[in-house]
Amino acid sequence: MKEIVLVKYGEMVLKGLNKKSFEDMLTKNIKRRLKSLGQFRITSAQSTTYITPLDDDIDLEEVVDRVGKIFGIAALCRACVCEKDFWDITAKSLEYLDEVLSNAKTFKVNAKRSDKAFPMKSPEICTELGGILLEKFPNLTVDVKNPEVTVTVEIRDTNAYVHAENIKGAGGLPVGSSGKAMLLLSGGIDSPVAGYMMAKRGVHIAAIHYVSPPYTSDRAQMKVEQLCEKLTDYCGGIAFYCVPFTELQEAIKDNCPEEFFTIIMRRLMMEIAQRIAAKDNCLALVTGESVGQVASQTMAAIACTDAVCRIPVFRPLVGMDKTEIIDIARKIDTFETSTLPYEDCCTVFTPRHPKVRPVLADVEKAQNAFDFEPLIQKAVENTEMKTFTYSK
Ligand code: ATP
Ligand code: MG
Repeated sequence: MKEIVLVKYGEMVLKGLNKKSFEDMLTKNIKRRLKSLGQFRITSAQSTTYITPLDDDIDLEEVVDRVGKIFGIAALCRACVCEKDFWDITAKSLEYLDEVLSNAKTFKVNAKRSDKAFPMKSPEICTELGGILLEKFPNLTVDVKNPEVTVTVEIRDTNAYVHAENIKGAGGLPVGSSGKAMLLLSGGIDSPVAGYMMAKRGVHIAAIHYVSPPYTSDRAQMKVEQLCEKLTDYCGGIAFYCVPFTELQEAIKDNCPEEFFTIIMRRLMMEIAQRIAAKDNCLALVTGESVGQVASQTMAAIACTDAVCRIPVFRPLVGMDKTEIIDIARKIDTFETSTLPYEDCCTVFTPRHPKVRPVLADVEKAQNAFDFEPLIQKAVENTEMKTFTYSK
């Protein structure tokens, strides 16, 4: 029996004239993600993408698992391919759904007839097929309101399809359809989640990470690279920029008042991020900040950080509690890596009493006591780039 994977679009169905470009982007993302599993034919019609395996030994469970993490998809399912003939549909349904129907108590048949030339109307298909299934599976009764199993028959242009599962997709918009942004990625819990959330809105993510050796170790950087790799399941390929930040942090420590260390450091991070963002066509920055979480994330502190930003800064976690963020981190499998105990450059030279409500003029005055520009330029020049693609 021939099996395929049917993919139903999410929000992009609403995109009117732009729909074609969203659809192309989604198809490209699916192709790229499945390439290592074998050959597929991927086609789209009527707000559905059909993934047809062309090799016999393709693991469809793995296909569903991978496609389930691709943004732009509302639902997906494995389905059996039938001739557009009621008796073929019936015979295939009996065989294909034998196990699920044998183990269920209630069911209903749901028919969708997008090919109006098919001789039976939807209610007729439901009644006829339902009757046959009731006869073959004495364990079943019909429950139209809340059935354990919904047998769906779709009559489409070239074939009919039968399936009994509907798996929720990752939602959102296809990655790349909203342009690119630069994620400030630390080794913590929050920033990987922020990257995931922006990718969900169709944003292609590049990542920037600041290291301060010898205060931060190689292991800390490797941890962030591991996070990048995990994010590729959702975000696709990620360009990863690693910025040598030690000299800037030492300059802050030697030249600025201690209470402003963190806020000045964050302003320098933003300055460097937007210079690298410009080189890589990123239209915005993304951080994992959430209002009130730490001293540098009060509204006053965020205002002082934003004052140096010339492009939008997206903070998708801004109104979330830590517990909500952790739930997502677990779901996307970044939590365990994020909680490995390696130091981040943010924890180097932390002030004992950071200003919780910094005033911009005071911060600027403190920062202007030293000319950071040559060191900023040097850090940008010495930034190293690596590309991450799917780990499997
Ligand atoms: P996270 O869990 O993401 O590390 P956090 O709650 O620990 O966040 P901070 O350490 O204050 O908060 O950092 C706030 C944000 O600044 C992070 O979410 C991240 O976007 C960015 N950031 C912090 N440290 C780094 C770093 N070393 N490299 C790149 N970005 C960083
Ligand atoms: Mg952190």
